[in-house]
Amino acid sequence: MKKTALVLGGGGFIGGHLGKRLKDEGFYVRIVDIKTGHEFWDHTMICDEYLEGDLRDPRVVEKAMQHPEEAQAFDEVYQLAADMGGAGYIFTGANDANVMHNSAMINLNVAFEANRQGVKRVFYSSSACMYPEHNQIDPSNPNCEESSAYPANPDSEYGWEKLFSERLFLAFNRNYGLDVRVARFHNIFGPMGTWTGGKEKAPAAMCRKAAETPNGGELEVWGTGQQTRSFLYIDECVEAVLRFMRQDDFKGPVNIGSEEMVTINELAQIAIDFSEKNIAIKNIDGEDFQEKYGFSCPVGVMGRKSDNKLYHQQMGWSVSQPLKVGMKYTFEWINEQVKARQPKQ
Ligand code: NAD
Repeated sequence: MKKTALVLGGGGFIGGHLGKRLKDEGFYVRIVDIKTGHEFWDHTMICDEYLEGDLRDPRVVEKAMQHPEEAQAFDEVYQLAADMGGAGYIFTGANDANVMHNSAMINLNVAFEANRQGVKRVFYSSSACMYPEHNQIDPSNPNCEESSAYPANPDSEYGWEKLFSERLFLAFNRNYGLDVRVARFHNIFGPMGTWTGGKEKAPAAMCRKAAETPNGGELEVWGTGQQTRSFLYIDECVEAVLRFMRQDDFKGPVNIGSEEMVTINELAQIAIDFSEKNIAIKNIDGEDFQEKYGFSCPVGVMGRKSDNKLYHQQMGWSVSQPLKVGMKYTFEWINEQVKARQPKQ
């Protein structure tokens, strides 16, 4: 039989792209997700088998992990399923209990069952949100070196759960020899991902707003817009994951992200430039924000960017695509989605 890969959370953004790449490489791919299907991909492009199921349920995880042929185990398992979203979902506090409970349940089930069924290697997607808040106060000089993770002080419950689950997978490795790879993603973006509805991330939100705003209008950016971030295009993310997954020595945790840092206002301006419209940025913060939305402005840490020294040192390869290239593809795709939703004249 072909090599086999299981993508948990493959109905989501990164999982869809990863499933496609694995299928294109000739893997037999099974996706499991709580969604009835992928919102944007036709299943036949991203997997051989799509199972709808709730991975908080251990019986679902047991079934998900069973190899299509008896007495065999999956070659590669990618654990991407999580209860997550952009700043409006993660940082308001309103979803903290669900975010922690749902994702921890999934990870507890996955680590246990992957070990029980002897899967050959498991990838776990952690997040840059696990880095200490106190190292990300200066927007021009954040520290996200892997070694800076402790003493721990993430700025969100989402980050705490990621930290717990990193440790869970690494503990299964130490105690039971489960072969794991743990990476910390930093803001992955691109087409075929959530672009509206409240769970979208900043690049998609900026592209959507630029696409929707009429010429001469204003584009709203949450906070001062001076907070900094780095964003990695999805194709480079998938490449970085596979290179990391397919070497035998280094388990991580390691950052997977871009080192090109921009302010959120600069990100918004890139989207505006691709729209070729005359749009002004309007920052909304403090009481104005509270009055309009009914909760305080969820901007997250003031600065964050991937530190790629460790990845480069271990893998001898680095991501390199400029942000604008990925933003162009993303804007074009979101612009099409926005147009498709507009009522026909
Ligand atoms: P996503 O939300 O698009 O995908 C996650 C998928 O998990 C969704 O399809 C969702 O339906 C599924 N899921 C949630 N609960 C489930 C459950 N109980 N049972 C089965 N499926 C369930 O997110 P993404 O952007 O593709 O992120 C994938 C992983 O990478 C997540 O673990 C996320 O925390 C991590 N990550 C992503 C980013 C990013 O910038 N996209 C950054 C850091 C970390």
